[in-house]
Amino acid sequence: MNKWVLKGLKTGIKTTLYPDKEERSLGISPGLPRGKQTTGDKTQVVSRCPTQALKYTGEMISVDYTRCIHCFRCLRGINNPVDWDKGYEWALSINEIDDLSRKFGKAFGHSLHIRFVDGGACGACISEIEQINKPYYNIHRLGFFITPTPREADVLLVAGPVTDHMRLPIKKVYDAMPEPKRVIAIGTCAISGGIFGPSFASEAGISNLIPADVVVPGCPPPPLSIIHGLLLLVSRKPSASLTSPRSTEGRKTL
Ligand code: SF4
Repeated sequence: MNKWVLKGLKTGIKTTLYPDKEERSLGISPGLPRGKQTTGDKTQVVSRCPTQALKYTGEMISVDYTRCIHCFRCLRGINNPVDWDKGYEWALSINEIDDLSRKFGKAFGHSLHIRFVDGGACGACISEIEQINKPYYNIHRLGFFITPTPREADVLLVAGPVTDHMRLPIKKVYDAMPEPKRVIAIGTCAISGGIFGPSFASEAGISNLIPADVVVPGCPPPPLSIIHGLLLLVSRKPSASLTSPRSTEGRKTL
């Protein structure tokens, strides 16, 4: 018998059980900082943030996930660090709440075709997107498929801050997709420009070019966060928040 078949029989199924069960394996997510109430010194922790994702009002430190790159500077090596969330369900729906017509119908729930375009990413988000198509995450079991052509795509994934050279290709891919079509911004750069944009060579994410329906914060977001974004798009998972603590002024817009 083929040795790969034998190995498979010996080890059994290793694919993650998410979303049916919570994934608890070690190293599955780098986590994100959580806002917190504190009477201690707040200026030290806020000033350590290289992307101005932290701010404080009164006794509350809050985190803006459109800018956080989970660099751990607000957690490690300081007094009074922020709390840390080890989860991975970070994706947030931007349009659906205001516009119900943006919801994908039931037919897409288990049949979604995805086109990915690199908008000038550093490579980190691309590497995580690659993982969702591999045996451990295996998006095929969820009815999600990567397609090489925009003509077959229902969803466009974009990573990176959108460099000048990629503005036209992204727009062309988006225009070539049939309706209904949706867009997911993967990672902090695609949401806000991150540490690269806006600059002389790039946009501040995709929002000035095409409308994002779902955003997945992180630098890079782990594969399970990207899968959460896809599940959110077909109403199989609820939305997270773009701020911590969750904003009381309603949803944050990009
Ligand atoms: S982990 Fe996020 S909030 Fe904390 S210092 Fe880094 S970028 Fe700022």
